[in-house]
Amino acid sequence: MNNAAIVWFRRDLRLEDNPALDAALRTHARVLCAYIHAPDEEDEWAPGAASRWWLHHSLAALARDLRRRGAELHIRSGSSLEVLEDLVGQTGAQAVYWNRLYEPALIAREAQIGQGLRARGVVAESFNANLLIEPWEIQTGQGGPYRVFTPYWRKARAQIEPRPPIPAPKRIASLGARGGVMLDALALLPKVAWDRGLRNAWKPGEQGAHDALRRFCADALTDYAQGRDRPDREGTSRLSAHLHFGEIGPRQIAWELLGQPASGRMRAAAEPFMRELGWRDFSHQLLHHFPQTPQQNLNPQFDTFPWLQGDAEAIARWQRGETGVPIVDAGMRQLWKSGWMHNRVRMIVASFLTKNLRRHWLHGARWFWDTLVDADLANNTQGWQWTAGSGADAAPYFRIFNPVSQGERFDPDGAYVRRWVPELQGVPAPLVHQPWKDADLLRRIGYPAPMVDLRESREAALVAYRQMRANPELSLTLSTPGRLDV
Ligand SMILES: Cc1cc2nc3c(=O)[nH]c(=O)nc-3n(C[C@H](O)[C@H](O)[C@H](O)COP(=O)(O)OP(=O)(O)OC[C@H]3O[C@@H](n4cnc5c(N)ncnc54)[C@H](O)[C@@H]3O)c2cc1C
Repeated sequence: MNNAAIVWFRRDLRLEDNPALDAALRTHARVLCAYIHAPDEEDEWAPGAASRWWLHHSLAALARDLRRRGAELHIRSGSSLEVLEDLVGQTGAQAVYWNRLYEPALIAREAQIGQGLRARGVVAESFNANLLIEPWEIQTGQGGPYRVFTPYWRKARAQIEPRPPIPAPKRIASLGARGGVMLDALALLPKVAWDRGLRNAWKPGEQGAHDALRRFCADALTDYAQGRDRPDREGTSRLSAHLHFGEIGPRQIAWELLGQPASGRMRAAAEPFMRELGWRDFSHQLLHHFPQTPQQNLNPQFDTFPWLQGDAEAIARWQRGETGVPIVDAGMRQLWKSGWMHNRVRMIVASFLTKNLRRHWLHGARWFWDTLVDADLANNTQGWQWTAGSGADAAPYFRIFNPVSQGERFDPDGAYVRRWVPELQGVPAPLVHQPWKDADLLRRIGYPAPMVDLRESREAALVAYRQMRANPELSLTLSTPGRLDV
């Protein structure tokens, strides 16, 4: 048995079913658990404010869980390769283990770090802790990546065999090293305390992830196929941030829903939920094979789309939830206050921004990036490009969500909009999704009229879309995608 190894934690902040930690403990007598804060290595997609808040609390929870098992979380800041080389030098570790991430900048970093460590004779090994199926494991008949979800998922689903998770270690024979910093030194928490809403809504960490899964299985799984579209109910799992930070992995969830612990009733209800985990994998395989997509349209035809420019106030009103369209405002305020928004409402607010306001989807993707606790480059990119119509298997641009009928269908009593837009509290159901129908009421409650006419802006968006289709040479309004000043 080799005597020492380093486990390099990133977004796999858990002890159960952590293959990198397991490999280290199985083959080495002593283990150093390290977290290296290196946001500038994530290119222009360093974690936003809400993600940093989550990360702080998740690291605190991991450190507590490690301490209970006799180990320290060694926290550092700086170049990942330099820190790992320093730790190898200090401890004489023969191996460094980590779990893979799939963002383009991080893949490049991992390759460089692997080379650097191997050049020093150190074993550098990585594992899958984060996806059901990794991007290179599924290919079309012609050998390329899938761009359409349904055939992708048919193939991927057939390969998923639930297996019991690797148990969390009971004790960890730990190594120490010099140079560690306190978690607070990473300055992840906001300087101005805007995070009360987040504190009330979430419990970051491995325990919080398992609590959320238990609640979902007990209360919402069997009705998920219908309940998942209702923002006025607790119909979804709220696992997205836990999954993003790797506090729980999708294969652990698959085991809970489909493996031995699951009842027959749970297994029968699990498929629609597994399909959403499939969308998560699909987004990661898109990001892997099309690494330019966080900045650029997957469908290059959209490079000539005549997005509107200027009028920063229009985007600011959307961000603040002051558009005058109740379901849009409710979603944007839910996001601001709690760091999360229901999926149905994400689609509605994204459609409103890209179609009714006709703003480039990157404006929205960047705002979500800073405000979502679950901000995830693969899922966010895919979600925005899908809604804008420029992505893989996308909603066609001409399918424009009508926020009034969406609200009436998915929030029929108006409970969701009333919860997040207090001005609408006393407004009865027939009017709550279109209070402008009663001009007196609008004045009384102090809620704005819609910032754009829904029908006219829809028509204008369709005209712009037809222009793009008819004339791909149309002058580029956005000549260098990704260099937006937002
Ligand atoms: C414009 C837009 C932006 C989005 N940005 C993000 C993002 O930054 N991070 C993020 O995790 N999700 C994003 N999504 C996807 C989805 O809205 C969230 O994953 C979901 O709302 C999280 O809530 P939940 O955990 O309760 O979901 P559940 O319905 O319980 O789903 C379970 C899990 O499946 C995955 N999932 C569900 N729906 C999707 C989807 N459409 N695409 C990919 N994975 C999915 C998530 O990991 C989720 O936690 C975005 C969607 C849109 C339309």
